[in-house]
Amino acid sequence: MLRIDLTHAETEPLEFEERPVVPPAAGGVDVVSVAPVEISGRVERAGKGYLLEGEVGGSARLRCARCLGEFDFSFSERLDLHLLPLTAAPQDDETRLDRGDLEVRFYEESQVDLVELAAEQLALAVPMKPLCAESCRGICPRCGANLNQGACSCPPETDDRLAALQDWRPSE
Ligand SMILES: [Zn+2]
Ligand SMILES: [Zn+2]
Repeated sequence: MLRIDLTHAETEPLEFEERPVVPPAAGGVDVVSVAPVEISGRVERAGKGYLLEGEVGGSARLRCARCLGEFDFSFSERLDLHLLPLTAAPQDDETRLDRGDLEVRFYEESQVDLVELAAEQLALAVPMKPLCAESCRGICPRCGANLNQGACSCPPETDDRLAALQDWRPSE
């Protein structure tokens, strides 16, 4: 049931729990692979539409923006969506305001695509500039060596500001 049929939540809350496969590209260029995402929650009738509450979580392999190495990344996001029929969409200020910080979504044909929802949450969770570690040393701009694996054989930088930065970094 990777698509929720909202009409099934018409009279009583509908619970769901799925493990959709989300394509890595959905999370952006730094996502190498994604393990099946867990998405669960419930949908219930609310006003003109439905309320969807739940959680999305999983893990992915990301590429570090600094050293280009791969690392594991896990995420867990809450879902709080107010679903309204598309027909209720046009500048309906009332529906925008009545639910505080709930995110409003519009649906067609009484369906919600869980793969799409999971893909969106992954995209939100992946950092703009993923780092394998805050202290990642990146790659040498001259020879391309991964400096996390030790110093390369390039001549030492003579820039004092850089040296100061190296000293400042907490040792691990
Ligand atoms: Zn890195
Ligand atoms: Zn080098």
